[in-house]
Amino acid sequence: MPDAAILQASDAPIEFIDLGAQRRRLGPRIDEAILRVVDHGKYIMGPEVAVFEQELAAFCGAKHVLSCANGTDALGLALMVKGLKPGQAVLVPSFTFAATAEVVAWFDAVPVFVDVREDTFNLDPASLEAGIVTAVRLGLEPVGIISVDLFGLPAEYDQILSTAVAHGLWLICDAAQSFGAAYKGRNVGTIGHMTTTSFFPSKPLGCYGDGGAILVEDDDAFAVLKSLRVHGQGSDKYDNVRIGMNARLDTIQAAVLSEKLTIFTDEIDARNRVAARYQELLDEVVIVPQIPIGLTSVWAQYTVRLPIGRDRDRVAAKLKAAGVPTAAYYAKPLHSQSAYRNYPVAGNGLPVCDRLAYEVLSLPMHPYLDENTQDRIAGALRAALRD
Ligand SMILES: *Cc1c(COP(=O)(O)O)cnc(C)c1O
Repeated sequence: MPDAAILQASDAPIEFIDLGAQRRRLGPRIDEAILRVVDHGKYIMGPEVAVFEQELAAFCGAKHVLSCANGTDALGLALMVKGLKPGQAVLVPSFTFAATAEVVAWFDAVPVFVDVREDTFNLDPASLEAGIVTAVRLGLEPVGIISVDLFGLPAEYDQILSTAVAHGLWLICDAAQSFGAAYKGRNVGTIGHMTTTSFFPSKPLGCYGDGGAILVEDDDAFAVLKSLRVHGQGSDKYDNVRIGMNARLDTIQAAVLSEKLTIFTDEIDARNRVAARYQELLDEVVIVPQIPIGLTSVWAQYTVRLPIGRDRDRVAAKLKAAGVPTAAYYAKPLHSQSAYRNYPVAGNGLPVCDRLAYEVLSLPMHPYLDENTQDRIAGALRAALRD
């Protein structure tokens, strides 16, 4: 594979994430899979849903997979299983997408924001300990941690798990960006008490709309999740034994995902080749991401840090003028967002999140980024930083 047809011409517009290239590679397979569903008509919980759940479980080694409507609902369902209550606190990183903290607030519980490490962008275990102290000082009951594997790299699970055990906390892994990665021989999906992921189109494994999943070992938790996904159903849909929601994955999306899963390992390899080449090209220009020994990343984003004092927005504007799309993930950490700024932060503040917000710049990253295009991107970044 990658054949000439999917490589971009040297003057073609550069895509931030090129879903079109993947579509060309998969050819008519996805269209045929969608048509099969349209023809058999089982749009809700058709046979493709259970097939995809089995395939996803086999892919990562999780015992159970419950597909659902999106990655946010996956987190919400996980918290329902945990029985999160008002007055309880959940430790979450501030340097993440809003959904990670949003779901805690759904339950009138309190997200306590924790700082991240500047080298991995993931939860800082020391700040996690400080956050637990903060929660207790505020009269809250810390019950759990939602870790995030930012940009596709698993968090520091040895320390996070030992903190969780020491304080009797559960651990939900928000793997919306990291499905397919591994931590010291353990696949994402088998690390915390529950793992959630997202199939939003731009995630490493994305569908053609919204989708998500929960990966879980525990049989009882899985049985409850199945019920919660369909309005808390008991023996059938019209027998309601608990308060649930409507969070099913569409059959069409399951069919799309099964096709994409067949090339996912190959795409992860391609992402890693792109990342390795970015490192060669940019190591001396910016601070490039480093993967700790024993971990793998699926490179949901390739996020560099600009040298101290550089105006990120100016650099991004110059890149844009040169035809290179970029993004600032995340220009505003959650503890600074208007919806979240009244929630507590660990210790005396989150200095690393505050600084990263000004330094980070995510470059185009996808499995079909060819070398010429990468050279153009690196050249444009060098030029933007020169003056
Ligand atoms: C994308 C994302 C989510 C939410 O997923 P949706 O499918 O868009 O609801 C949650 N957490 C993180 C870290 C994400 O990147």
